[in-house]
Amino acid sequence: MIKGTTKILGVIGDPIEHSLSPIMHNAAISHLGVDYIYLPLRIKPADLATALAGFTAIGVQGFNVTIPHKQAILPLLTEITPLAQAVGAVNTVYPVATGWGGTNTDVPGFLAPLHNLNNIDKNWSQKVALILGYGGAARAVVAGCAELGCAEIHVVGRQAEKLTNFQQSWVNSALPAKLNLQVHPWDNLPNLIPKADLLVNTTPVGMYPHIDQSPLEMALIQLIQPGTIVYDLIYRPKPTLLLHEAAHQGALAIDGLEMLVQQGAVALNLWLGRPIPVDIMSASLQMALKSRD
Ligand code: NAP
Repeated sequence: MIKGTTKILGVIGDPIEHSLSPIMHNAAISHLGVDYIYLPLRIKPADLATALAGFTAIGVQGFNVTIPHKQAILPLLTEITPLAQAVGAVNTVYPVATGWGGTNTDVPGFLAPLHNLNNIDKNWSQKVALILGYGGAARAVVAGCAELGCAEIHVVGRQAEKLTNFQQSWVNSALPAKLNLQVHPWDNLPNLIPKADLLVNTTPVGMYPHIDQSPLEMALIQLIQPGTIVYDLIYRPKPTLLLHEAAHQGALAIDGLEMLVQQGAVALNLWLGRPIPVDIMSASLQMALKSRD
């Protein structure tokens, strides 16, 4: 119930109508019985600074940030965590004495399903990560693989100049962990796939409604070794064609839903300072996605 005392959380973006965050956050808020509401807030790029000043004026307690504001918000924050600095993007903002602080919960969100895997050797310092794509999500995945301490991180993309820029962007990074990062053209995949212990798709290829597409053609999927962890950041469809075929090869498949839930749970925990019902958030999302199919 919204009362005179209800505190405001939310997510800013443009567009924002598609966001699933209000569904999962309000499900958790309702389950916890806390006096908060989480709102979708459409903010045009030109209005970002005005919106932040307004949030201060009305006492907003925190908010998530999505496209197109994840980088643009950096200069408007008075504190930025080293992790968000390294990733170069903020997705979670909280009030601090000097204004607003920002962090990036996509990194712990990406890592949570890997930490939760049972029956795998978790000696990441011996493992090779292979990442398809070099966009925004790939930056959180690289930071996550660095935090795991992966022996090698290989990023594959289709445009040489963007690959070089991506590699350059990590030189002098604020990451606490050392980074053994190499970039490659798509043609190198036949050499890279057989030695990958963790293969992550950060491209949108295979996302609904293009469910019959895969970032890897069948001949490449067949090079995936049994036991490889194949992690697709896409959460619709569940599973993607890539995950379906990789599982046939004996791979361990992880889809993007848990990352989505966990990045939200880390943010909500930061704002509320109490344990978050992750299962409730996950169930609300699965129900919402089912109703969209
Ligand atoms: P983005 O910044 O636009 O990056 C997309 C990347 O995919 C770019 O490197 C792009 O390369 C590459 N790409 C696109 N089409 C390709 C193709 N046909 N072949 C090879 N590479 C291709 O997008 P993003 O924000 O990183 O998001 C990427 C995906 O991750 C989306 O599906 C998104 O829904 C998902 N995601 C999930 C979560 C989660 O919580 N589960 C969080 C964030 C993102 P070019 O520049 O060369 O086109």
